[in-house]
Amino acid sequence: MAKNLVVGVDVGGTKILSCVIELGDKFKILSRVKKKTKPELGLEGVLERINQTITESIQESKINKKQIKAIGMGFPGTVDQAKGEVLMAANLGWKNFLLRPVLEKAFKIPVLVINDVNAGTYGEQQYGAARGFRDVAGVFWGTGVGGGLVIDGRVIEGAWHSAGEIGHICLNPDGPRCACGNNGCLEAYTGKAALTNQIYQEMKNGRPCSLEFSEENEQVTLKSSLISSAYLAGDPLVKEVVHQATRYLGVGMANIVNLLNPQCLVLGGGMIESMHKTLAPMIDEHMRRHLFPSTNVELRIAGLGDYAVVIGAGVLALAEGK
Ligand SMILES: [Zn+2]
Repeated sequence: MAKNLVVGVDVGGTKILSCVIELGDKFKILSRVKKKTKPELGLEGVLERINQTITESIQESKINKKQIKAIGMGFPGTVDQAKGEVLMAANLGWKNFLLRPVLEKAFKIPVLVINDVNAGTYGEQQYGAARGFRDVAGVFWGTGVGGGLVIDGRVIEGAWHSAGEIGHICLNPDGPRCACGNNGCLEAYTGKAALTNQIYQEMKNGRPCSLEFSEENEQVTLKSSLISSAYLAGDPLVKEVVHQATRYLGVGMANIVNLLNPQCLVLGGGMIESMHKTLAPMIDEHMRRHLFPSTNVELRIAGLGDYAVVIGAGVLALAEGK
């Protein structure tokens, strides 16, 4: 039987990852190529880098291109999956760009383009922590808070291609400004950018903290690894800010569960990877306080790491025959 070989691509704001993957009962990563995205090069430049990354991953896999059935690509932004059009990718500066035909012309292989967080949630549902569950919500806690929904085994894209934007559930209409332009979104309380700002403001008010902000990076979002090492070392200010965020995250997740009743919530992202042992039970407890009485849900920690998006996009591309 012919093997199910696909290329899975994860285009991010800072890096592009392309893998040739063999899909069966399990998945097998046959090659892995990572390059910087360099959004400053503009659309043509980024497109060229995407093409190079895919090409090199195929070369490295030693698989004949003709054996590859599809390319699945997770893209950071709002994507019209049926058309393969990137409607909006704020961190790359792309708007209304028909990506799929361009890639199909370049590689002569069917291509599917999907929002990256949707792909990641689907990857976890197919091969990761949520395998075996039909209704799954993914929550990815990093610079922002990304979300994805798989209901009845299908990725939910919504009428305007932005379903599952869990980070923009409003927790308080008078709350802090969010990157999306609204106020009081979950992300405006819990995203790493918000946490960095909270820590910075407290330090300016004289609170001691082990983290340092230099003149030039005072506006720059702290890396998850810096926040987690300060947290795990017991820094009181960092602990306070992070604990407060787990409360908001728990409330946001309870809202999703009360609305959709998924069987499983997958929790991942940079903030969770190194701190899940401590934070997941807190988030779980906060969430359960706000659940509708008859509701239950299983909270699982994302298991595929870097590969969730490439696998999810690859599986979907294969399943849809493109
Ligand atoms: Zn928002």
